[in-house]
Amino acid sequence: MGRSDFLCAGLVILLLHLIPGILGWGKLGHYATCKIAEAYLTKGASAAVKSLLPRIAEGDLANVCAWPDQSRFRYRWSSALHYSDTPDFRCNYVFKRDCHDTKGQEKRCVTGAINNYTTQLMSYKDTYSSKRYNLTEALMFLAHFIGDVHQPLHVGFVGDLGGNTINVHWYRRRSNLHHIWDTLFIESAMKTLYSEDLGVMIKSIRKNITDGWRDELKNWGDCAKARVICPGSYASESIKLACKYVYRNATPGTTLDDDYFYSRLPIVEKRLAQGGVRLAAVLNRIFTRKSLVLQQWD
Ligand SMILES: [Zn+2]
Repeated sequence: MGRSDFLCAGLVILLLHLIPGILGWGKLGHYATCKIAEAYLTKGASAAVKSLLPRIAEGDLANVCAWPDQSRFRYRWSSALHYSDTPDFRCNYVFKRDCHDTKGQEKRCVTGAINNYTTQLMSYKDTYSSKRYNLTEALMFLAHFIGDVHQPLHVGFVGDLGGNTINVHWYRRRSNLHHIWDTLFIESAMKTLYSEDLGVMIKSIRKNITDGWRDELKNWGDCAKARVICPGSYASESIKLACKYVYRNATPGTTLDDDYFYSRLPIVEKRLAQGGVRLAAVLNRIFTRKSLVLQQWD
């Protein structure tokens, strides 16, 4: 790498840190969500997913679940699609009110994007209309955004950019609340509880799905009115969690350590689990049912 390339790369990395609110779960969180989903895919859905994956995925959806974060410079239009914040201190989610980009263009947010890419993927079996879309990209976007909408601060308050402007300490390290929820929770959990191994963490979450959350599990994949997908409900859960647990005791300048970590880690793990189970549920519905009615926009 030449000096100017090096400077360029440095600048890009710097910019990535300055741009708020567009990252979603970090690489590890997206990988975990998709890996959890894989275990719940039907044979038919799994085959359809494999047929759409790009070569770089090496046959594994989890390998490309962070792709939309890596493509956001090429696809600048997509940066608004990773989140959907609510007005300050409003702890409910209203699609009409909250789903828009910074210019106010409607439906350009994470829940709108989930609806859009679900609709695109539903043309999979229809040779004529599927040609209108790039279904490989639609699959990677959908898998990623279902992960994002489960990260509570991707449905946080507009005023603090989903926690991006709340500067705090994570143990001894300076950070912001958004980054802690995207990445540092999972990194710290791996370090202290899972021998630095994401596979061990995923295994533990899977065990919890079948043991601890078994009673709730059957409802996770369902949507009211037999909808294919209900991102508005996932967003509602996120903003409620943000209000009740994420923002609480995390005012600017505070140090978040063991108390915060151990009391909130179960939320992080449950959201990864729910994202995975729901991703599988929607892919199963899309690829294995003959006729589907998608009720747009909730
Ligand atoms: Zn994202």
